Amino acid sequence: MVCVGTNVSSRGTTPPSNITKDGAYLNKIPLRRLLIVLGDQLSRDNPALRDLDPQLDLIWMCEARGEATHVPSHKARTVLFLAAMRHFREQLQADGLRVRYLELEAHDHPTLDAALSADLANLKPQQVCMTQPGEYRVLSALRSTCVSAGVALHCLEDDHFLCSTDEFAHWAEGRKELRLEHFYRWIRKRDDILMDGGKPTGGTWNFDKHNRKNFGKRGPGTIRPPLGFEPNAITRDVMQLVERHFPAAPGQLQHFDWPLSAEQAQAALEDFIAHRLSDFGPYQDALWSGEPYLYHARLSAALNLKLLHPRQAVDAALNAHQQGQAPMASVEGFIRQILGWREYVRGIYWRNMPGYLEHNLLQAQQPLPDFYWTAETDYACLQAAIGQVLEYGYGHHIQRLMVTGLFALLLGVEPVQIHTWYLAMFVDAVEWVEAPNTIGMSQFADGGLLASKPYAASGAYIQRMSNHCSQCRYDPKQATGESACPFTTLFWDFLDRHQQRFAKHPRSALMWRNLQRLPSEKLVSIRKQAAALRQQLA
Ligand code: FAD
Ligand code: SF4
Repeated sequence: MVCVGTNVSSRGTTPPSNITKDGAYLNKIPLRRLLIVLGDQLSRDNPALRDLDPQLDLIWMCEARGEATHVPSHKARTVLFLAAMRHFREQLQADGLRVRYLELEAHDHPTLDAALSADLANLKPQQVCMTQPGEYRVLSALRSTCVSAGVALHCLEDDHFLCSTDEFAHWAEGRKELRLEHFYRWIRKRDDILMDGGKPTGGTWNFDKHNRKNFGKRGPGTIRPPLGFEPNAITRDVMQLVERHFPAAPGQLQHFDWPLSAEQAQAALEDFIAHRLSDFGPYQDALWSGEPYLYHARLSAALNLKLLHPRQAVDAALNAHQQGQAPMASVEGFIRQILGWREYVRGIYWRNMPGYLEHNLLQAQQPLPDFYWTAETDYACLQAAIGQVLEYGYGHHIQRLMVTGLFALLLGVEPVQIHTWYLAMFVDAVEWVEAPNTIGMSQFADGGLLASKPYAASGAYIQRMSNHCSQCRYDPKQATGESACPFTTLFWDFLDRHQQRFAKHPRSALMWRNLQRLPSEKLVSIRKQAAALRQQLA
């Protein structure tokens, strides 16, 4: 990846006497390499740590206030990162490695780069080494810091993914469109996953038509809760720290039980494979109030912090299928998310940064409604999805895409505002994965770089996939009047407002054709009701 400055040279084998075991520096003898480990790089196999010499190199980790405030980070998200970092520090120190770890209360640098800048001046390493961060913002800030300090920065490819940025670029080269489906088939063939003699196992590349079930009126019944992890003393300390320092941050901590170490992540994966994978496929699009996880894996945070390698997740699902413990539709559905979507969105992010966050194809300018931060709304589906995010820091994919994301799309919220919300509110939010999902998939703001058409739908979709509408004072069938469902009003209004752009689009024309069937006086009332809604929510 990126290298700035000159090559580092070994200074022989004498340990730098200026560094104590806990990384405090005692005098001015420069060390060889400062190895930065960021909060989402907590793998013992982190490339930056691979050829480290404990005598010559120092690991550097920092709890920076700015990382918890540049977006108003959910308390559970901040606890997750800091507690997992502290657990990782313990592990490194137990392995005899020296770590300079700046705890939040032990320094007053506002940002990661300010803290690094001060330590570069004091420690004077010959080189800084790190694995590629998950955010362009962090990469540029740390790069500039090293340039200003005149220290070489060696930035390594993050191989905690199944497709490198170079491999993605190679795949993308010369293609008119970068579609998930093509990428997914390519990587399945490349890695020989779910393939039989060059053909997809089971005779088809996807089992989507088996995977769109709802729970019907009777609901999902009793679903075994996912394995959770009681906060230990380290985590409890961090929870208090976060309450003390970020009292106004959104979200609550009472359900905090996320995996915080590689061992816990492995146990969470095994729990998912044994108890939920079988039903993951058919019900992956279903919603049910009071059921935050349903059959979802709850593994994204562990994957994104690098506590779990995606290959572990893929292999565990393949193994379950071979043992006859999970049907093909579920196994393929799960592998598509990890091997397909997760790798694909990362490729899209790095290929289009900087600049990706500024996309606003549909020229959406509406402010994000205040209830996104409080859940204080009488729209039952939004109340459930946002209330759940505040409580757990989690929403499953359909809650994100087809409830909170859909409403923002139809209302016409400025993409950067809804992007900030998604980055702030979910424990698994890291920009490389959040931004393409929000700006591209959910808001269609990138003009189809990622999705082939907008994910637009009326209240009827939510009615079909959930029990929310039966508990709501609005009626998903009504587009106008007192009981009109806001999704339905705004859906028709969305079709109307963007008719010119999409009516001839091959993948979306059908949806727009329905608009032609609407009587013109009905359309006038819809426009009026949508305008009033926008005014009320501004
Ligand atoms: P499951 O539904 O059980 O899926 C299994 C795994 O597949 C997940 O753990 C995840 O690693 C991967 N996966 C599934 N869908 C996607 C996807 N579309 N993109 C990338 N990986 C995927 N995911 C994040 O990890 N961080 C985010 O900040 C994030 N923001 C999102 C914002 C929006 C608007 C949308 C629509 C989706 C977002 N996603 C994000 C993707 C997806 O919703 C989450 O990965 C998933 O809900 C996490 O829950 P789970 O582990 O139970 O996943
Ligand atoms: Fe949501 Fe509309 Fe259904 Fe109410 S009626 S729950 S607002 S989709």
